[in-house]
Amino acid sequence: MPEGHTIHRIARDHGRLLVGRPIRVSSPQGRFAADAERVDGATLDRIEAYGKHLFYWWSTGEIGHVHLGLFGKYRVTMGEPPEPKGALRMRLQTADDGDPVTIDLRGPTACTVAPPDERAAIVERLGPDPLRRDADPERAITRLTRSRRAAGDLLLDQSVIAGLGNIYRAEILFLHGIHPQRPGTKCTGDEATSMWDMSVDMLRAGLKANRIVTVDRDEIGWPRGRRIPRDEATYVYQRDVCVRCGDGIRTVDVANRTCYYCPTDQPG
Ligand SMILES: [Zn+2]
Repeated sequence: MPEGHTIHRIARDHGRLLVGRPIRVSSPQGRFAADAERVDGATLDRIEAYGKHLFYWWSTGEIGHVHLGLFGKYRVTMGEPPEPKGALRMRLQTADDGDPVTIDLRGPTACTVAPPDERAAIVERLGPDPLRRDADPERAITRLTRSRRAAGDLLLDQSVIAGLGNIYRAEILFLHGIHPQRPGTKCTGDEATSMWDMSVDMLRAGLKANRIVTVDRDEIGWPRGRRIPRDEATYVYQRDVCVRCGDGIRTVDVANRTCYYCPTDQPG
């Protein structure tokens, strides 16, 4: 499942292509057809990212909502639109004299258009998003330190922090020496604050680079100017051996997702 930086990147990149333009909205597959019809031909005012959710602000006053889930995927085509094939849930197609752009969406968990109070209800259930300027860190920090649930569970809970996923969770816990199953109540305020700050830094770096790299280049001895390959880009996630201590990396299921950790560096 994409983490928050990917969603913000989509909002930014697609926004540059579509915002301010009239858009033909359709659902070749049919499942989104009734909603698409209500905004078909409207101008797209804004694409907003909030955690792992995307909101499309239409000139009709309604707001589209997309959650990619595990399988959702966009495809951008410049120029001639491709033949609509397969389970094509939503097609966005520019309808002016500018450069033609087509953006296709397949396999999302959610894809709807609704009045603004729908968006408000979704956002209300979300914790602060580290990539948003309006984020209130105190909300996340308070939730983290007051819950008896496992830290690894809380970091994935979108109502605690909106946007973190399985890779960042493992990396943030490792860098704090916190075992994924340590209860939130056993994390200090300083630790929770630092985990929030790190989520801001990591997501920002991910947004900029359009990929996840959590390791320090010097620490892993990777030469400057050379791209760090994917299997070297994390400390514990999908690693076999700890970069720092050489111990074997272990996994534990927390919040139904596999969490990687180092038993030596994250003893409790
Ligand atoms: Zn280690």
